[in-house]
Amino acid sequence: MRKSLRIGVLALQGAFREHVRALRRLGAEAVEVRLPEDLEGLDGLVIPGGESTTIMRLARIYGLDDAIRRFHGALFGTCAGMIVLDQEHLALADLEVERNAYGRQVRSFEADVRLADDDLPLRGVFIRAPRVRELGSGVEVLGELDGDPVLVRDGGVLLAAFHPELTDDLRVHALFLELAKKMRASRPPGVPLPKEASARRAGPYKRYGQAPSAKHPAGCGVSPPRSPAPPGASGRRPGGRDVGPL
Ligand code: GLN
Repeated sequence: MRKSLRIGVLALQGAFREHVRALRRLGAEAVEVRLPEDLEGLDGLVIPGGESTTIMRLARIYGLDDAIRRFHGALFGTCAGMIVLDQEHLALADLEVERNAYGRQVRSFEADVRLADDDLPLRGVFIRAPRVRELGSGVEVLGELDGDPVLVRDGGVLLAAFHPELTDDLRVHALFLELAKKMRASRPPGVPLPKEASARRAGPYKRYGQAPSAKHPAGCGVSPPRSPAPPGASGRRPGGRDVGPL
């Protein structure tokens, strides 16, 4: 089997070059993706920050929206990429976000993100960032800012509300490569997961940003309890790819 991971970066618009650079610094083979056929043989795909409306529009024009829905590798959405993967867009992750929730461009900021598995905080660059409004019960919170989940994982889908490619801290990209490696190990490239294995979860949603009490109460890294609700019970499209714990 190929040793280095081959990761695509959706290169329709936005900060794709910075992701390519970060992935190469970690030893991955990084390629720009502009057409559905570019996804062949990839272990993972990054959907960068930029402008989600533009990324969605161009993805539709090139048939990349359906191709990404069929893609079986790991996915990593940052900022606009997080929006693109949410339930109101490609519906590949079990969450809903509010665009530009922290205000206009001038309200963009940097802040320390508290990580679930690391005492050293991570500097996050938030540029017209989305904010999680609802989070599926199976989604793992990996990083928080003031009680808001800003780094989460839904199975094989990693999502950051900020821009990890704009700092020299490579921890989030390293985490994504770990996820892509794990998914590759569980399935040789080109072999689709059996239907049951890729079945998505559905469940009640945790609401954020409504009132302070609605924020994630248990703190960083404590996953909300899993729901016994049967798939589809909520009437929403569940997200994520089941790969177990990371
Ligand atoms: N506000 C942008 C959007 O709605 C996202 C900003 C970003 O990716 N930095 O798509």
